[in-house]
Amino acid sequence: MSKIVDMDSQILKVPTDKHISDSIHSTEFVEIVICRITTVDGLEGTGFTYTIGKGGASIKAFLDGYVKKVIIGEESSDINGIWNKVWWMAQPVGRGGITEHAIAALDIALWDIKCIEAGKPLYWMLGGNGRPVKLYETNSGWLHYTEEELVESVKSVMKSGFYGFKIKVGRPFEEDMHRLKAVVDAVDGKISIMADANQAWSYPEGLRRSKMMERMGIAWIEEPFPADDIEAYRKLSIISGIPVAAGETIFTKYEFMKYINAGISIAQPDVCRTGGITEWVQISSLCMANNVNIAPHFIMQLHAPLVSSIPCGLYVEYIPWMEKLFSEKPKIEKGMIYPSSKPGTGVKFHNRALEEYNIEYV
Ligand SMILES: [Mg+2]
Repeated sequence: MSKIVDMDSQILKVPTDKHISDSIHSTEFVEIVICRITTVDGLEGTGFTYTIGKGGASIKAFLDGYVKKVIIGEESSDINGIWNKVWWMAQPVGRGGITEHAIAALDIALWDIKCIEAGKPLYWMLGGNGRPVKLYETNSGWLHYTEEELVESVKSVMKSGFYGFKIKVGRPFEEDMHRLKAVVDAVDGKISIMADANQAWSYPEGLRRSKMMERMGIAWIEEPFPADDIEAYRKLSIISGIPVAAGETIFTKYEFMKYINAGISIAQPDVCRTGGITEWVQISSLCMANNVNIAPHFIMQLHAPLVSSIPCGLYVEYIPWMEKLFSEKPKIEKGMIYPSSKPGTGVKFHNRALEEYNIEYV
């Protein structure tokens, strides 16, 4: 038990190391919004969220202008109490988006303090034993890559021991199918191939493509439709022969409940978008009770302990852009990622990185 006496925040602008593109994004950097909380006993917890390059200043403003005022003086261990206090404060302007990103950074910082205070790693606090988790690779299947580059990528991914490779789709039908077939032929059934449309299609187009992907043995079709078109997800889930995956663009357990009721097979909650660890764990319980598996979006450093601690976790997604920010990299061996065994969430920012990538918006 230790009262919160201070909170501060910071934005980093971090290169993605290569140009990335999918059907709705094209960028070479992400923003990291950090939330640091200090308690009267000198404990310090660090949480963060991120954006695909836009919106970080608004998240920071919400943390500095509103969240800070309502958490000073609270007991840091009362994570559920603080979470609900901020959630209800944000209702008229939030229930998703900017506010939920800010709550995520706050919540992760509170869990960091709780773990440090207990002297335990996050997986231990969540009831796990720290088992490693399978990785699939998403960092070399971008939409602007040529077919030859995709084939080279997947060969390299197989050599590295990953259990799957995800390619972005959203080009014209024939091109997408040709590219997918080239990758499927190259792996010859040795690893799984996933396809991610990033909300690109209408229902008829998604249906047509899913039929082709089913014949190719694609492991899942991810975000085929706009995130708000739950009816399209429901219709495809009923008749699709391959699992339908979604969740990186929704924020709360209430939204996940709608998708689960629509019949998706794989949920992809992102701990930095779903309001942090607290909400992520509640979403995982909903999934468990409804035979839905979890393959979360991005942020492998935090998702390793989370997926490791639940019974319905499938994979963690390998995207390594953020490794340069942290003083400790997660152990990755033979396609498996190991949750940190140190007290805390396992995420500690390097002082050098905090200086090098810091930006000030005016
Ligand atoms: Mg995706």
